[in-house]
Amino acid sequence: MLVAGNWKMHTNREEAIQLAQAVVAEVGDPGPVQVAVCPPFVNLEVVRQIVEHTPIHLGAQHMHEEVAGAYTGEVSAPMLKAVGCRYVILGHSERRQYFGETDAAVNRKIKRALQYGLIPIVCVGETLEERQAGKAATVVERQVSAALDGVALPSAEALVIAYEPVWAIGTGHTATPAQAQEMHALIRHLLVKQYGEEVGRALHILYGGSVKPSNAADLFAQPDVDGGLIGGASLKAADFAAIVQAA
Ligand code: 13P
Repeated sequence: MLVAGNWKMHTNREEAIQLAQAVVAEVGDPGPVQVAVCPPFVNLEVVRQIVEHTPIHLGAQHMHEEVAGAYTGEVSAPMLKAVGCRYVILGHSERRQYFGETDAAVNRKIKRALQYGLIPIVCVGETLEERQAGKAATVVERQVSAALDGVALPSAEALVIAYEPVWAIGTGHTATPAQAQEMHALIRHLLVKQYGEEVGRALHILYGGSVKPSNAADLFAQPDVDGGLIGGASLKAADFAAIVQAA
């Protein structure tokens, strides 16, 4: 199980310090559950100082595919690695929707992240329109296949998939455990096809979209749900810790 908090564009420096300290205190020893927080770039360093030597890992929310160069405003894989990141979220629906991130770009970023030993948390998920048109499975299948095209994995720990239906993100409308499991099973099938039984079965598939303490246990109980990518609820240490507890 893996539970990761995506803080999105929240927390100034002081708030990030307080939240990170509270997460460390509230989560305590998560046992076998892996836990990560993904603050905004500018707060990575200050959060690293708090979480290093604790069971909480650090992740970034986004990354440029090139290693260095004239890409004003962007941050690269080696920079994230150097600041202590273990994870990087790639292809989040907000990046796809507002910043024009394509399947092809996500694919290139995954390869770059792997090259630098970062674990990509690759986000996929359909919009409400796509679900209502009966295209959810087709869309997710396309996103997964395109993202992983030509991607070799050194181990099952090297990459994580997050299924985040766009209609469930920040809306309070969580997918039902059955809806989540149905899509996770499809993703699992694709992973097994590409990476074989052993790696395909062991890869983490997270669910994201309005996960809260009250629904986390039911979602995590599904056979192919291996944890969660948490937005809003990760900004409250007690809620985040309760979700980790449910995993
Ligand atoms: P919410 O948990 O706020 O719905 O956000 C989910 C998400 O986008 C995590 O990446």
